[in-house]
Amino acid sequence: MKNFDLIVVGSGIMGAFHAYHAAMAGKRVLIVEKDNFPVSSTVRNFGQAVPSGSAGKWFDFGRRSLEIYQQIQQKVDISIRRNGTIYFASDETEWQLANELYDIHQGKQYDCILLSKRQCLDLYPELKQDYVRGAIYYPNEVSVEPNLLIYRLLDYLQEQLQVTYLPDTAIVNCTEANGKVNVVTSGNVTYTAEKAIICSGYVFNLLFPEIYAQSGMIVSKLQMLQTVPLTNVAIKGNILTGLSIRRYESFEECPSFQHITTPEHYRELKKWGIHILFKQAIDGSVIIGDSHEYAPVGKTDELGFDTRTHINDLMLKEAERIMHFPVRKIARAWAGFYAQHPNDIFEYDVSPNIHIRTGIGGKGMTTSAGYAEKNIQKLYL
Ligand SMILES: Cc1cc2nc3c(=O)[nH]c(=O)nc-3n(C[C@H](O)[C@H](O)[C@H](O)COP(=O)(O)OP(=O)(O)OC[C@H]3O[C@@H](n4cnc5c(N)ncnc54)[C@H](O)[C@@H]3O)c2cc1C
Repeated sequence: MKNFDLIVVGSGIMGAFHAYHAAMAGKRVLIVEKDNFPVSSTVRNFGQAVPSGSAGKWFDFGRRSLEIYQQIQQKVDISIRRNGTIYFASDETEWQLANELYDIHQGKQYDCILLSKRQCLDLYPELKQDYVRGAIYYPNEVSVEPNLLIYRLLDYLQEQLQVTYLPDTAIVNCTEANGKVNVVTSGNVTYTAEKAIICSGYVFNLLFPEIYAQSGMIVSKLQMLQTVPLTNVAIKGNILTGLSIRRYESFEECPSFQHITTPEHYRELKKWGIHILFKQAIDGSVIIGDSHEYAPVGKTDELGFDTRTHINDLMLKEAERIMHFPVRKIARAWAGFYAQHPNDIFEYDVSPNIHIRTGIGGKGMTTSAGYAEKNIQKLYL
C-alpha cells in the first residue's frame, strides 16, 4: 500500500485546499470523500469570493485566497472570473456605512471605489432607480462556478500534484498510536499517515460525535433560487445589496454600525436572516438568495430538507424591488447548509497529529485557500 504523509477527510473546499497546500509543500497526500463527489456546502453556494465582506484575519485570508485562485487559474481553468463585487446601498444609513468601509479599505490599500446613484444606474441597467442610493465597488474580487471549481481542483490535485483521491469512501474511525494516524473506512480498510486533517463540513455523526456535541457549532440552512438562463441580462460579478451591508462583518467595523436601526420594511426579511445577493452564472442564469435558519449540532435534522415558500416569496419580492429583470423565472431551488462556530472556525486537535478544521461558516469560498495555507504552515512547523 502507498505511504502517505497526510490524510485529509472531506473533499469540500476546505479539504481540497488543505490537500493542495500540503502537496505543494512536497507531502504525499490522500484525500477521502464519503460521497460520489462533493455535494455539500461547496457546490450549493453562490461562488462569490468577497474578502470585502470579512474583517480581521479573515479579510487577510480572503485577500490571499484571491491570489491563490489566480495562480491556479493561470495553470488550469477553475472558473475564476475577475468581475468584481458591488454592494448597492438603498438608503442613507447603508450609504453612510459604504462610505465608512471605503475609508477603512483605503487605509488597508484594498482597491475600492464609491459609485454615485447615477453611475450605478449607468453601469447596471437592470437596477431600479428607486432602490439605489449609491454603491461601493471592489474591482479585483472574483466569482467562481462552485461545482466547476471543486471538481477541476480535485482533478488538478490528482493529475499535477500526485494527490490520491478516494471518493465513495466514508471514514468511520481515526486514531493515533505510536506517532502514526490510522483512518478506517466503512469498508474496514485502514490507511496510515503521519497526520490527519478532518474537514468534514457539517457531518457530525461519522467521526468524533462527542467532540462535535460539545463544540458550540451550529448549522445554518440557506434557501437559494436560480433563474433560467437570461441571455438578455448582463449583471456581472458579485452583487450584494442593502441588507448585506447591514449583515456582513466588515461593515460591523464601521463607526456608525452600532447606531443603526432596522426600518420597518426590513423586519420580516431579517426575521428569516434574508439578505439579497445575485450572481450570474456562466450560462446566463442568475442565482438569487439567501436566508438563514439555525440549529445546534444534534438537532440539525430539525431544519428539514424542504424549502419554505414564504421565504422564497420574501426573497423574490425584495429582488424585484432591486432589479428589473424577471426574477420569478425560476428554474431550480435548493437548500444549502454550512457549519459555523462562534470563534469563526472550529479548530480542535484530537491528538498531536489529528486535527479537526471545520465550521468556517459562510465565508469558505472566500477564505479557505488562504486559511488552509496558513494552517498547513502551522501544522508542519
Ligand atoms: C447556500 C450557500 C451559499 C454560500 N455562499 C457563499 C459564497 O458566495 N461565498 C463564500 O465564501 N462562501 C459561501 N458559502 C459558504 C461555503 O460554501 C462554505 O463555507 C464551504 O463550502 C465549506 O466547505 P467545507 O469544505 O468546510 O464543507 P463541505 O463543502 O460541506 O465539505 C465537507 C465534505 O466532507 C465530506 N465528509 C464529511 N465527513 C466525512 C467522512 N467521515 N468521511 C469522508 N468524507 C466526509 C462531506 O461529504 C463533504 O463533501 C455558502 C454556503 C451555502 C450553503
